[in-house]
Amino acid sequence: MSTQATFETVIGLEVHVELKTETKIFCGCKTTFGAPPNTNVCPVCLGHPGALPVLNRQAVDLAVKAAMALNCHINHDSKFDRKNYFYPDLPKGYQISQYDKPIGEHGFIEIEVGGETKRIGITRVHLEDDAGKSSHAADGTHTLVDYNRTGVPLIEIVSEPDIRSPEEARLYLEGIKAIMQYCDISDVRMEEGSLRCDANISLRPAGQKEFGQKTELKNMNSFRNVQRGLEYEVIRQTEVLSSGGEVSQETRRFDEASQTTVLMRTKEEAHDYRYFPDPDLVWLKIDFAWLDRLRESLPELPAAKRRRFITELGLPPYDAGVLTSDLALANYFEGVVKAGAEPKPASNWIMGDLLAYLNSSGQTIAQSPIPPGQLAGLLAEVANQTISGKQAKDVFQLMCGSGKDAKTVIKEQGLEQISDESALLPIIDEVIANNEKSVADYLNGKEKALGALVGQTMKATKGQANPGLVNKLLIKRLKERS
Ligand SMILES: [Zn+2]
Repeated sequence: MSTQATFETVIGLEVHVELKTETKIFCGCKTTFGAPPNTNVCPVCLGHPGALPVLNRQAVDLAVKAAMALNCHINHDSKFDRKNYFYPDLPKGYQISQYDKPIGEHGFIEIEVGGETKRIGITRVHLEDDAGKSSHAADGTHTLVDYNRTGVPLIEIVSEPDIRSPEEARLYLEGIKAIMQYCDISDVRMEEGSLRCDANISLRPAGQKEFGQKTELKNMNSFRNVQRGLEYEVIRQTEVLSSGGEVSQETRRFDEASQTTVLMRTKEEAHDYRYFPDPDLVWLKIDFAWLDRLRESLPELPAAKRRRFITELGLPPYDAGVLTSDLALANYFEGVVKAGAEPKPASNWIMGDLLAYLNSSGQTIAQSPIPPGQLAGLLAEVANQTISGKQAKDVFQLMCGSGKDAKTVIKEQGLEQISDESALLPIIDEVIANNEKSVADYLNGKEKALGALVGQTMKATKGQANPGLVNKLLIKRLKERS
C-alpha cells in the first residue's frame, strides 16, 4: 500500500432526495411509492402537448427547508430551466431543473471524522422533477416503463470536492440523511430510491493543488456500497496512475456482485443538455416572510442535538453521534432519560442490548418491543440493586419476548435480590456454622477466607442475595465472634 500514500483522494457527491409531498411537483398526481404501474399519471407528467406545469408550493417549502438546514444562502429569486435529453423514461424530452439560479447555494454540513469535526461545503441545492422507471427484461428483448415516478419532486444536493476518503463520503451521506429525516423532508430510503447518490472521484499527487482527472460513479444503492465503490475506485485509479497511465473521464457503475466498478460510458458519449429557461414557468420569488415562516418550522438539527447530548446530558461524543444519527433513536433515548434513567446507562443499553436485539430481529427502533418508559423501569431496578447488571440482561430478553415490564418479569422469575437483613441473617448464621475452617482462617487474619463464606451464602440463596449486604453482614457476625 506504499503507493497509495503518495496520492490524495478527492471526492464530491451529488445526492438526489425525493421530497415527501402528497402530489407531484408540477401536477396533482399522487406520489405514493409502490402503486400499480402507470396509475399515478396525467397529461402534465406524461408530457402531452399543451399541458402546462403548475409549481407545488409544498415542494418549494421542503426544498427551502432542506437548503436552510444545510446552511445555504437562499436565493429570493430562482428559476426553472429545461435540461434536454432523450430517454424513454422522460416523456417530455427534458427534465425541469434549476441551472444558474438554484434555490440554495454556499452551504455546508459538519461531519465527525477521526475524533475531529470537519466541514464539507455544499455548492448548491436545487429543485427538479424525477424521471420514470425503466425495467429492462433480462433477455434483452424489451423494456417496460413506469411513469408513476415521473414528476415526483427531487432536490439535488451538490457537495464541494471537500471529501478526502470513502469513509468521509459515507459520513457525509449519513449526515445528509439525518438532516433530511429530522426536518421531515424525505423518507430517505436508499432501497426505495428516495435517496440516491452519484460520486465524482479523482486522485492527485499529495501536495498538488490542481485536481486530477475524475471519474463519475453511479448505481450505488446503499451507504455501504458508496464506500465500497469509492474504495475500489481509489485502488483502481492508484494502479493506473502508479503505472504511469492516465485516468480517463468516464462514468462507471458499482457492480454489487463483483464489488468492483465497471465502465458505463466514456466522455465521447457525454450529454450536452442545452439548458434554457423553461418558458412555461415564471420566476420563483420567495420573500422574507415566507423564509421566516420556514426557518421557524425547522426542528433542532442533528448537530445541535449532538452538542446538547454532550454538554447537557454528559454523554461521550461517540454515544451522542450514534444516538443522534437517527431521529427515532434520538427520541427513544430522550424518552428513556425523561422517564428517569441516567443518560449514560440509558445510552449503553440502547446502543448495546437494544440495538443488538433490533438488528437480530430485523426491527427498527420504532418497532421496539420495549417502550422507552419500560427500559427506564429496567434501569431503575438495576440502579436500586433489585437485580444485578447481569440479571438485567436476562430480564431484558424476557421483556422483549413478552412485552411485560421489568417489575413483572423480575417477580415472575423470582429474581429479586434479597436485600432484607432479617432474611439473610439466618442463612449467614448457618453458613458460619457449617464452615468452621473458613471462619477460623478468617479470624486468624486470612482475609481471603471471607470470599469463600460469601460464595457459600450466595450459593445458599441461589445467587439472589445482595452481595454487598452479604459481605457486610458476614463481617459483622464474624466480628461478634472474635
Ligand atoms: Zn401528473
